[in-house]
Amino acid sequence: MGIKVAKFGGSSVADAIQLTKTKEIIEADKERRYVVVSAPGKRYTEDNKITDLLYLCKTHIDHNLPYEQVFQVICDRYMAMVINLGINLDLMVEFDEIKKNLQEGASADYIASRGEYLNAKITASVLGYDFVDTADFVLFDEKGRFLAEETNRVLGEELKKHERAVLPGFYGSYPNGKIKTFSRGGSDITGAIVARAVKADVYENWTDVSGFLMADPRIVSNPKPISKISYKELRELSYMGASVLHEDAIYPARIENIPINIRNTNIPTDPGTMINAEVTVEKDRIITGIAGSKDFTVIAIYKNMMSQEIGFIRRISGILEDYDIAIEHLPSGIDTVSVVIANKNLDGRLGEVLDDLKKKLNPDSLDVFEDMALIATVGAGMSRRPGVSAKLFTALAEAGVNIRMIDQGSSEMNIIIGVENKDFNTSIKAIYNAFIS
Ligand code: ADP
Ligand code: ASP
Ligand code: MG
Repeated sequence: MGIKVAKFGGSSVADAIQLTKTKEIIEADKERRYVVVSAPGKRYTEDNKITDLLYLCKTHIDHNLPYEQVFQVICDRYMAMVINLGINLDLMVEFDEIKKNLQEGASADYIASRGEYLNAKITASVLGYDFVDTADFVLFDEKGRFLAEETNRVLGEELKKHERAVLPGFYGSYPNGKIKTFSRGGSDITGAIVARAVKADVYENWTDVSGFLMADPRIVSNPKPISKISYKELRELSYMGASVLHEDAIYPARIENIPINIRNTNIPTDPGTMINAEVTVEKDRIITGIAGSKDFTVIAIYKNMMSQEIGFIRRISGILEDYDIAIEHLPSGIDTVSVVIANKNLDGRLGEVLDDLKKKLNPDSLDVFEDMALIATVGAGMSRRPGVSAKLFTALAEAGVNIRMIDQGSSEMNIIIGVENKDFNTSIKAIYNAFIS
């Protein structure tokens, strides 16, 4: 019998109705032996995600405010699921334990992880599958770096003992046993790690859209679906902001050549998107997708004869490294280089960073563009095809968008542009309309 790993995102396990759909999907295929779940997500647009409520409890505690009311909302949602599903699971013991740990100063990671933990317990009970706690098998070092190989070994060993199991996504633990979470949306990573550990035939990622679409459906109405895409293209899109799949979920699947299939829990008959190593260049498919995100700062540094100053780029990297700030992009010209940084990493230190850059690099001038958005147009079909950039820039000019930065990846598989935050949606729509008729 083959093995399928199925990960269900927040909306697929948001309440008893959704969990019932999830159960039907799993039971429809006996190969769906390992299931990874997120915490309950939103049931409707204005609803709260359980993970957000859990973080909110922690914020209340840190500010010495009563947290009980928020905690009760969380407990009530899980209780309603248990009652409506008609399962026999005593959650009171779990709630008491969590509350006790909270009062004793448990970390934000611990409290956030309880969303997945409780949901996996419920799902395991609904399906009659074993519950395997990822805290014991998804391992991080003391600095919080994920230990891929060790995890693969111990998780693989453990899962051999379970014919069928449900595992909570999103977290693992430090060597001292304390809980450590991945970044937000991290249950996708857990799913891929489990798929690698059991050498699955496919990693199914069940969500609320019928696969990867060519653009964010919240910006472009009815974007075309992508039926096939390579790991490489997908990683570019995910990294740049297409939130369907966490960008770090690709590596574990790719290493074992496991295809990833994005599917829709609400329309399970849709085939969704298939992601694998194959790069398909269809004659009439120039671009594969568009993705982006807001809130970056671009620092444009000008210096005459910069290219002859050996070590200039290294000095820039060194300065930012001192602040522990990652550089997102570094497009350069003959006498200019632009440093692109995410605002969240700058964390209010722009002034200090600029002073340091001026002092240590002695540039002729320095221009700063705050509140910038980055947009990537991705597609294996773009490479060596003349006129793609021209088409893109014309579309943006016609839409009245000012392009502040251009970076074409050396793979020629993407073109990244920097525009002002306010032009973000307009730009995505303009690019989409230019390439997709
Ligand atoms: P889950 O909770 O199942 O992990 P997410 O909310 O993380 O789901 O991801 C699915 C959402 O991603 C969709 O509902 C959609 O709004 C958003 N999204 C952004 N970009 C895209 C895209 N290119 N294709 C499809 N969905 C996208
Ligand atoms: N529940 C976590 C989050 O909201 C992880 C996930 O859903 O993948 O970010
Ligand atoms: Mg997600």
